[in-house]
Amino acid sequence: MLRFRVLGSGSDGNATLVEGGGARVLLDAGLGPRQLAERLLSAGVDPASLDAILISHEHGDHARGASAFARKWGVPVAGSRGTIAAAGFVPEKLPPLAVVEPGATHAIARLTIRVVAVPHDAARPVAFVLAASGATFAHATDVGHLARSLVEALRGCDALLLESNYDPAMLRDGPYPWSLKERILGPLGHLSNGDVARLVEKGLGEECRHLVLAHLSRKNNHPELALLAAEEAFARAGRRGVRLTVAGAAGTDWITVHPRSARGAGKGERQLRLF
Ligand SMILES: [Zn+2]
Ligand SMILES: [Zn+2]
Repeated sequence: MLRFRVLGSGSDGNATLVEGGGARVLLDAGLGPRQLAERLLSAGVDPASLDAILISHEHGDHARGASAFARKWGVPVAGSRGTIAAAGFVPEKLPPLAVVEPGATHAIARLTIRVVAVPHDAARPVAFVLAASGATFAHATDVGHLARSLVEALRGCDALLLESNYDPAMLRDGPYPWSLKERILGPLGHLSNGDVARLVEKGLGEECRHLVLAHLSRKNNHPELALLAAEEAFARAGRRGVRLTVAGAAGTDWITVHPRSARGAGKGERQLRLF
């Protein structure tokens, strides 16, 4: 079985727990180490039982708690070379530190992890596509635009966590200084509700039956607006029965990813053992 649970989402801190194929990993550790441990325990998970923490990029809302948490609980950390350098992860001070680069597929027990490049203003940011028991879950936050290679990587997933960061009108009329608005709107910034709608309509495969909208801006978005944009896009695409969840700052409950068919993801790809 493959399942995940968002422990936190948004600018206050991002972290998602994933279990499957006999492995248990954390995607991003943007909450403080104590808060991460508390949220894991309330999910019924012993923090020391994690097999790895995979960091998407070095921004504080994704990497803040990684070093301290990893040291306290003895959990290995993995990220791209750029992320490791920019986050200041020091190999001597951490449990095993592994490099994952875009294009590679890694394995921890029977959980496979495909690393995909994303456009964002960080050193070498990545998205993750995880697969176990024939089900696939993709995790992509902090994405400046829907690059073709990313859309292709997300297409066949059974469940997708995708950022839906801002509503363009709220961002335009909101309190941010213009330079920050430009950064968010730019090709290395964040995805809008409209970008998510475009992906739903044109890029998302029929396999995807659960979409989690994540990393919503508190100032420049509203959960209702993000939901409505995605719902309308699914309706335009004639897709019914797709579950939609908004991940708030407090995260979500467990979400189980069911395989649609026996067509296992990642088959035939070269897999590198991660730890
Ligand atoms: Zn972020
Ligand atoms: Zn970021």
